[in-house]
Amino acid sequence: MRHGLADVRSGFDVEADVAIVGSGPGGAVAADNLARAGMRVVVLEAGPELRAEDMVRDAPRFLARNFWEGGLRMVLGTAPSPSMHARCLGGGSVVNSAIMLPLPAWVRQEWRAETGVAHFDSPELDAAYARAFARCRVSPTPTAVLGRRNRLVRAAIEGVAGERGGGLPRAVVDCEGSSDCLTGCPTGKKQSVDRTYLPAAEANGAEIYTHAEVERVLVEGTRVTGVEGTVVELPGWQRRGRFRVRAPRVLVAAGTTQTPVLLQRSGINPRGRVGATFFCHIGGGLVGIMDEVVDPWIGATQGWGAISQEIRGLKYEGLWASPAVLMVRWGGVGRSFVDRLDEVKHAVVIAIVYRGDVRGSVRAGRRGDPVLHLRIPEKNVAPVMRGMKTAADSLLAVGARYVHTGLTSVMDEMRSPRDTESLLSPRVRASHMAMTMNHTFGSCRMTADDSGPVDPQGRVRGVEGLFVCDASVFPSPSAVNPQATILALSDLTSRRLAELPLDEPPAPG
Ligand SMILES: Cc1cc2nc3c(=O)[nH]c(=O)nc-3n(C[C@H](O)[C@H](O)[C@H](O)COP(=O)(O)OP(=O)(O)OC[C@H]3O[C@@H](n4cnc5c(N)ncnc54)[C@H](O)[C@@H]3O)c2cc1C
Ligand code: SF4
Repeated sequence: MRHGLADVRSGFDVEADVAIVGSGPGGAVAADNLARAGMRVVVLEAGPELRAEDMVRDAPRFLARNFWEGGLRMVLGTAPSPSMHARCLGGGSVVNSAIMLPLPAWVRQEWRAETGVAHFDSPELDAAYARAFARCRVSPTPTAVLGRRNRLVRAAIEGVAGERGGGLPRAVVDCEGSSDCLTGCPTGKKQSVDRTYLPAAEANGAEIYTHAEVERVLVEGTRVTGVEGTVVELPGWQRRGRFRVRAPRVLVAAGTTQTPVLLQRSGINPRGRVGATFFCHIGGGLVGIMDEVVDPWIGATQGWGAISQEIRGLKYEGLWASPAVLMVRWGGVGRSFVDRLDEVKHAVVIAIVYRGDVRGSVRAGRRGDPVLHLRIPEKNVAPVMRGMKTAADSLLAVGARYVHTGLTSVMDEMRSPRDTESLLSPRVRASHMAMTMNHTFGSCRMTADDSGPVDPQGRVRGVEGLFVCDASVFPSPSAVNPQATILALSDLTSRRLAELPLDEPPAPG
């Protein structure tokens, strides 16, 4: 059952067997498992429920309403960059491109060796992936909805650079190739968790509260007793009634940036390790301007991609989003922005996603918002720029008139492989590698020893009944898009708690 703002504006006080903070991929799969096991589940989500009519192409307005800090939560440090975190029922799954990739074998092995957590590389994780892929109805993006933009990326990266790729596996049924994933999928094709796991949890009795921002995890002695917070209302997230959920178990799945802050603000910080680590994928993006009309808004948002065989940990992805978002990097302002608008219909965009060796932290700022830092050592520049040059040269080879990168230290319009040499120049520094950092991880690492605040069962060390089940538990970057792994790891944590079998095969159909 859903409780929207109208029901709860003046506050509420309820009891449950388990309270789940956050309704993104991590929280939703846990809600489903625990409700199925017969527990009284309450899900608390700070954002609103989005309906088809809220999913409009007006990206600035959509971002302002449905993302934390309007989609501009800053990652400070070496290359200050925005990081986008959805604030709505279903969390990031509503606005993401629905790409579902399991961890590469080498990352699984590394995670297991580094942390001592056996299930990072185990048949249980395979079974959890199989359930998630079946549940989200994952299939490769069909050629028919790639559109000219993704096909040009394929021609460049596979045809010219020789990196083998394919239509990306996505949690979408009958994608219409509208390129609108960032502002939600109004036709309901994307299998975001508000359309999959959360309704299933509700069918088993889970109660879902939107506009409910949890401010504190309540602990008596060493035992969790529930959560409390404030009902918040748009516009401006005005503060309304107070709420409390009394529960002997609390699962925190508020996302990599909010989870550590919530724990810190609640005085929960075993060995000072909560938020002491934080990782993001780094990389860059480039726009090729073709002679031909591409109409880049036709085709699946991120329909085609390739995991590099040449540069370990690097991935190429075709991409589209509203020009209002993309042109922050390439459009300039004022007159130059208007001039560049004419180029939009000729544009092809490639994103470079790299699993760098980076280190960061998350701490609660004075107003309780997360303060994020990321240090990017210089050694990460060379592999990213090699990938950028490969993509730039390949776009030129398939007919791009010129390529922009948005990097301040290279030519603005690169028209030949000689121009793209500037990408390999020592003038390009880690501090220039600002990008949108949407893959974030590892602020409450899961480890077998007590170097991380979360144990292999998902329990927060030192507080009985408290669990973390979102991307915070990743021990380091995943190298691929994280959603599938969040679903799989949260599935394992919540199944252990619910005493459901870890090796259960996907439901038929
Ligand atoms: C534009 C974009 C595209 C992406 N594309 C892909 C992709 O194609 N494939 C992929 O694998 N990954 C993708 N990602 C990343 C992926 O969406 C995230 O890694 C994933 O959603 C994280 O899941 P989570 O459960 O850890 O947290 P979230 O999805 O962030 O969910 C956390 C939820 O908790 C709520 N919350 C936070 N604090 C509180 C509080 N105090 N009280 C109550 N509720 C709270 C938030 O509002 C949010 O709804 C993308 C991300 C973005 C932004
Ligand atoms: S590309 Fe369009 S139809 Fe396909 S999943 Fe994204 S928003 Fe939905």
